Parts: sequence; structure tokens; C-alpha cells
Amino acid sequence: MKLGIFGGTFDPVHHGHLIVAEFVRESVGLDRVVFIPTLISPHKIDAAVTSALHRLAMLREGVKANRFFRVSDMEIERGGVSYTVDTLRAMREENAKDEFFLLIGADNLREFRSWKDPAEIVTMAKLVVMNRPGFAAAAEDPSLPKDVIQCPVPSVDISATEIRRRVRKGLSISYLVPPSVSRYIGRHRLYRQP
Ligand code: ATP
Repeated sequence: MKLGIFGGTFDPVHHGHLIVAEFVRESVGLDRVVFIPTLISPHKIDAAVTSALHRLAMLREGVKANRFFRVSDMEIERGGVSYTVDTLRAMREENAKDEFFLLIGADNLREFRSWKDPAEIVTMAKLVVMNRPGFAAAAEDPSLPKDVIQCPVPSVDISATEIRRRVRKGLSISYLVPPSVSRYIGRHRLYRQP
């Protein structure tokens, strides 16, 4: 099985995530895409992030209409800072016969060399880079492995930061997130405070 691994804070999941994941699934021919919310993102250690259980619940709501999408709570269950290398090791132990593809937005790829054990990551998974508005494609970066897959996806200029900002200001988030995620945010009064 060809498994896509899509990690992130997902605070909250939005249509940018869902659209690019679906395009990668189709063009790379993945059997599944597993969305894995971080517990503590190494790049957001000091940031005020919504509780992992809310982020996980929103993600489950957000992906449920797609039969190829799954959610894993392994980083939340593992505890501590969420390192991709640890997640891939655990995934490989569980699914030894599978082939792994790590989905990364062009913004995140710029920091890839500063991740924990990047050299080991690329032995375990192929990198699939998704373009993101405002961030140059990574093709020029000579330090990346040669077999990085540059997967053209629609440019969707949606970010979780903008969604949180809009909720805080009382603005609409319709069409930016799935309706069930929007309802969840309203029901739990998320993102109202700065
Ligand atoms: P924030 O605004 O809070 O930083 P975000 O919208 O960037 O959040 P994350 O959960 O941090 O969302 O992103 C998870 C992964 O999805 C990252 O690899 C990121 O590059 C990618 N990603 C998020 N939004 C998009 C988008 N609109 N287009 C392409 N990739 C995206």
C-alpha cells in the first residue's frame, strides 16, 4: 500500500489542507492519506495552540467525507514534542510492507534541514512537496534529495492563522473549512480570544 503521511498542527484543518491532500493522493496514486496532528510542534513550542483533543476532533470531522483519508492520534498518544522521524519509525513498524510518502507544504520544506534527523526521514519516506501561495517552490534547494516529488496542486491561499483571525473578529469562515468544522468551532467557542 502507498501511504501518504500528512502532519501538521491543524489548528484548525481547512480546505487548503484537504484540497492539496486530495490532489497529491490522486496524482501520486496513494491508497490512503493519514493526517497526523502534532501534540507539540517543534516549530511552535512557545505558540499558544488549541488543545490537541479539539484539533483532533476537528480533523476527524473534516476528513470523514473522504474514504481515502484517515486520522491518526499517534503523536498525541506518544506525548512530548512531535518529531516526524519518530512518527515514521512507528508507522514503519506497524506497516512494514507499505511505501511512505511525506506530504509537505512549500513553506515547511524550507525548514526541512532543521528538522530532527532529516537524513533518516528521507530513507523512510519520499518527500512530496506541495506548492503554497507566497512560498517559492523548493526545486532550487540543492540540499534536498534528488527524488523529491514536486506535486503541482491548486494554489489555495487559506491558512489556519487567517481562520483564527476571522473567528476572533466575528467574520465568516464559510467555504474556508468544512461545515462540520465550522459548527465545531462555534459549539466550542474556539478562537474567540486573542
Ligand atoms: P498556521 O497558519 O497556524 O501556521 P497552516 O494553515 O500553515 O497553519 P498547518 O497545520 O501548520 O497549517 O500545516 C500543515 C501542513 O499543511 C504544512 O506542511 C503546510 O505547509 C501545509 N499547508 C497548509 N495550508 C496549505 C495550503 N493552503 N496550501 C498548501 N499547503 C498547505
